[in-house]
Amino acid sequence: MDEIVRAIAGEGFIKIASISSRGLTQRASEIHRLSPVAAAALGRTMAATSIIGNTLKEKDASVTVRINGGGPIGSVIAVSDPYGNVRGYVQNSKVDLPLKDNGKLDVGGAVGTNGMLTVIKDIGLKEPHVGSTALVSGEIAEDFTAFFAESEQSPAACALGVLIDVDHSIIAAGGYIIQLLPGAPEELIDSLEKSIIKTGPVTSTLKDHSAEDLIVKVLDGFNPIILEHSPVEYRCYCSREKVIEAISSIDKKELEELKAEGKPVEVSCQFCDRVYSIFPEEIETDKDGEGYA
Ligand code: ZN
Repeated sequence: MDEIVRAIAGEGFIKIASISSRGLTQRASEIHRLSPVAAAALGRTMAATSIIGNTLKEKDASVTVRINGGGPIGSVIAVSDPYGNVRGYVQNSKVDLPLKDNGKLDVGGAVGTNGMLTVIKDIGLKEPHVGSTALVSGEIAEDFTAFFAESEQSPAACALGVLIDVDHSIIAAGGYIIQLLPGAPEELIDSLEKSIIKTGPVTSTLKDHSAEDLIVKVLDGFNPIILEHSPVEYRCYCSREKVIEAISSIDKKELEELKAEGKPVEVSCQFCDRVYSIFPEEIETDKDGEGYA
């Protein structure tokens, strides 16, 4: 079962959230028929987005993460609700690159480094809160680490991973985000860095262990206190109404042609495998012809 676990440690100076997200990464991979490197990029992004979403307090809040580094994958998009239920897609789901020299999937090569990681938090105010940082490596975890360091102005560590089998099924996925509160002693930071290195890739823990076990392992010796477990899943909020609204900006002439044909239009959701069959009569174009905002 996919879940987020939150804990504090190190006399309250360390905040950590970990996620085990094999199921939701598998779901995304099946919906979008992702290549292994696309599954790794989207899986890592969804894991971090889910953790960020899970911190939102407002009931209808959402967080959208957009990563575009100019690489062959195009944009990587993930959206989370305030519980951490997440959905996402990549522009080019078939992107395929040779493995790196160390035998790992070349996520950085697929994403590219010529661009930004943007986090858009919508908590129901007039304007959403938008923050962005330049990509560091396109490997996603390092990029989120830079984002947290810049936006929260305190040291952070983010580790993310997706382990994929030869048949493209997802063996393990997830990671953690650690944030250090202001005033954390230097020696605490030093020993935490050592512990992070000792823990190694997150998927080597997550393939046989839980998100809580990952916290216990990376914070060994820091007396972690587990605060909360939240179950999460791949969840899309699309609806017939939303799809009709989205296509209502269609060109009038095009709509007349569709009406003349009398056949329904098949519209598939970007995030899930749902296909909506919409009759042209259901589409209301704007009467004044000025388009929708
Ligand atoms: Zn959907």
